[in-house]
Order: sequence, then C-alpha cells, then structure tokens
Amino acid sequence: MGDSSRQPPRVVIAGGGVAAIEGLIALRELLDGLVAVDLVTPAEDFVYRPLSVAEPFGLTEPRRFPLDAVAADHNAHLRRATVVAVDHEQGLVCLGDGAELPYDALLVAVGARPQEWLHGAVSFAGPDDVGRVRALVEQLDAGAIGSVAFAAPAGLTWTLPVYELALLASAHVGEYERGDVRLTVVSPEPDPLHVFGSAAAQHVRDLCANRGITLRTGTRVTSYADGRLALDPPAEVQADAVIALPRLVGEPIEGLPSGEDGFIPVDEHCAVRGLPGVYAAGDAVAYPVKQGGLATQQADAAAEAIAARLGAALRPQPFRPRLRGQLLTGLGPTYLTAGSTGPGSVESSIDANPLWWPPSKIAGRFLAPYLASQVAISGAAELQERPAVGESAAVDPAAEREEVRRLALWFAEKDAERGEYASAVGWLETIEHLDGLLSPPLSRKRADWSARVG
Ligand SMILES: Cc1cc2nc3c(=O)[nH]c(=O)nc-3n(C[C@H](O)[C@H](O)[C@H](O)COP(=O)(O)OP(=O)(O)OC[C@H]3O[C@@H](n4cnc5c(N)ncnc54)[C@H](O)[C@@H]3O)c2cc1C
Repeated sequence: MGDSSRQPPRVVIAGGGVAAIEGLIALRELLDGLVAVDLVTPAEDFVYRPLSVAEPFGLTEPRRFPLDAVAADHNAHLRRATVVAVDHEQGLVCLGDGAELPYDALLVAVGARPQEWLHGAVSFAGPDDVGRVRALVEQLDAGAIGSVAFAAPAGLTWTLPVYELALLASAHVGEYERGDVRLTVVSPEPDPLHVFGSAAAQHVRDLCANRGITLRTGTRVTSYADGRLALDPPAEVQADAVIALPRLVGEPIEGLPSGEDGFIPVDEHCAVRGLPGVYAAGDAVAYPVKQGGLATQQADAAAEAIAARLGAALRPQPFRPRLRGQLLTGLGPTYLTAGSTGPGSVESSIDANPLWWPPSKIAGRFLAPYLASQVAISGAAELQERPAVGESAAVDPAAEREEVRRLALWFAEKDAERGEYASAVGWLETIEHLDGLLSPPLSRKRADWSARVG
C-alpha cells in the first residue's frame, strides 16, 4: 500500500445492517483513507431493530439512520443495489441492476431471512411487525382477549426478544390494571436465556414468577389451533393469541458456498472457506447464535483480516465471541455478559447497571459509540467494558446515571418551555439510551413533543 501513484485497493461491503456498518467503521479505523469502500445495499436506512419490542406498548419510537449519512460519515460510496452473485475468479460482485463491481476484498454482511413457522401466530421479526402486535395489545386493553403466549422457534434465532415482549406486556397490563391476563413464554432453550449462563436464567425465572408469567422452557410448540397451543413434551396451553419469533435462514448468493439452512461457512477470521479475499459476518454466517453484538465482533475480525491482507502491519485477531445483552423488563433493564476466559472456562455477569459503555442494546465496538454520538451521549470512539458493581468501590454507576438523567430531563423541560421541541426530544432520547427505555409518562411526553416539532 506504499505506492501513492496506484489506485487504492477496493473493498466492497454487501449489506447495510449491523455487521456492514461495524465493518465499515472498523476498516476506516484500521486503514483510514488507504482503501476505497463501496457499501452495497438495497436499503435506504439502517433500521435499529432491538427497540422495536417496546414500540407496540407505546414506549419508544422507530429508530432509523439514513445510510447515505452513515456512508458519508465514513467516506464510503453507497450503492443502492442487491448483490446477486460473486464471481470470485474475476474478483467481481454482480448486482441486481446488471452492474458489476470489482473488489480486492469483499465483506458479505447480508443478514438472514426471517421465516414464519407457526400457523395462526403473529410473527414478530422487528419494526415491520409492530402494527400487528400493537393491534393485539389494543385487544388486550379492550378486554377482547385474556391470554397471550410468546413462542421461540426450534431453529436458529435470538431468543431475548421473546422474554422482553412478555415482560413488557406484563408491565403494560399492570399499568392498565388487567390482573386477569395470562401470559406464557414457551422456548426450546433448556433454561431461559441459556447462552448467558445460570445466573441469567435464574434472574429471568424470578422476573417471570414475580410478574405471574408462566415459563415453559425445554419445550417446543408443535401447532396452534382453536386457541390451543400443542407442545412437545406433550401438553396444551390455552392462548387467545400467540406472538412467535421467526426462525432465521440464510439467503444464498450465487458463487458463495452455503451450508445448512443457507448460512455461509467461515473460519475464525470470518474468511469464507475456499474463497481467498472474501469474508462474511453477522446473521448470514454459519454460527449458532444470531445476535447483533456477535455480528459486530465477526465484522471486526473480518476487518482486521482484510486490513492485513491489504498490507497493514497487524496481526489479525480471530473472532472470540463475547455476548452482551440488555434485557428490557418494563422497569429497569438488566445487563448480561458471557464469554470464554480461556479453554473450558466461561465467565458471565449480570447487573442492573451497564456492564459496557455506551450502554446500547447492540454492543458493537465502533457501532455503539457511533450511534450514541447521534444523541450526544458519548464522545468515546470505542465500546468500553465496565466493572459489575461491587467489584469497584470507586464508581457508583447508579448515582452517576441518576445525575445524568436528572440533568437531561432538566434540559428537556427547559427546551420544551422555549418551544425547542426537537432538542427536547433529543434530551429524552439521551435518557432512553441510558435506561434502555423511557418510562410511560416520559414516552407520552416525547410523543407530544415530537408531534410539535415543526
Ligand atoms: C426484535 C429483535 C430484537 C433484537 N434484539 C437484539 C438485541 O437486543 N441485541 C443484539 O445484539 N441483537 C438483537 N437482535 C439481533 C440483531 O438485530 C441481528 O443479529 C443483527 O441485525 C444482524 O446483523 P447483520 O448485519 O448480520 O444483518 P442485518 O442487520 O439484518 O442487515 C442485513 C443488511 O443486508 C442487506 N441485504 C440483504 N440482502 C442483501 C443483498 N443480497 N445485497 C446487498 N445487501 C443485502 C439488508 O438490506 C440489510 O441492510 C434483535 C433482532 C430482532 C429481530
């Protein structure tokens, strides 16, 4: 990369989601202006899916980030198109509009396709399904239905939203004083949030028990008809309505290998097996946990491998998964981490205070600070680990957060008094970022102020 008369090497990133944006920022951190990057996606916006679980309950608003701004912020060329094939011999990406793009390195981050699996259920895969769940919530509020089941599929998915939907529903019916509503969660996982370890499982069991939510783990739903869910091991649950998370499948691209369920096989540096120079990250790759935080870690590993391949002096680090999850409960969020600390040794933590900063639901090394910078919550360039409370007497995160929350609310109220509603809403978004969600009164205030933004 030392010859300045040559064209810079060209990296194509296929996708406009979590792994694509993390990969783009990571490449810029590693190679700065030494590469030209094309971001290829049919999407207009990066849609932040995790908070969509709270939208049906009126607790948050859709969050979208225009991809032309994301690309411009990171000196990438945005190409609105779908990647339909990869010609590895020629080093070309073939687009749906007939064009071809040459690449020196390719990062495939096209995500997975949600697939409905339970006839009669409302499938919830994020923002596009909010309306159907909201309609169910209205039926609950009106007393037209009295029991709802929340089902996770037997195939690959990210199960955390199924618990969040049930917990947020219980907080909602609590607010509307509908104590007669019966809520049930059914999941094939051996324990709730099994991937986070036993303390997290116990925490979810306690939360559900306190809220009167029936929990059936180690259980698959086999069918739903006439208001009855048939389960395996054999049992029946009565449910006036069912909300099911979809299972995820890969969307194969011609010229790329695809394994079971259409996912792309990669090595520990996220290099696509058998195709030098081609990398893949995120839900599209053959890895059993489909989560945004892990998608960013795969993208970081791929970006390092690409930088090294293009001549940067670094030793690329392999993908070593570290799970970070923020569970919305309808009261304060719970922060969960789990990861390997060496061969055969797994460590996990659970805390009411953030275990990373900024405390976002998709805990990407570069993505989280970048998105947080849009609501002015963080000036840091990278995600930082935070100790669990008790490990450090020097910090009191709860007091620290309370102070920031108090100040942000003060600024919000003052801005609203002056009629500066856009800024007032921005301050409320800072509080939402801190707390995971706004409380119902603050959510109502935001809706009111948002409607007044000129
Ligand atoms: C309701 C819900 C809640 C969630 N909560 C959390 C959470 O709390 N924490 C967490 O870490 N994760 C969470 N997740 C999971 C997380 O959203 C995904 O794991 C993550 O988005 C995967 O990132 P990705 O980049 O692989 O795919 P995506 O983010 O899905 O992005 C795929 C991108 O590729 C584009 N694309 C698709 N096909 C092509 C093509 N052929 N050519 C070019 N572009 C293409 C799409 O338009 C899109 O821009 C949640 C998911 C859901 C549905």
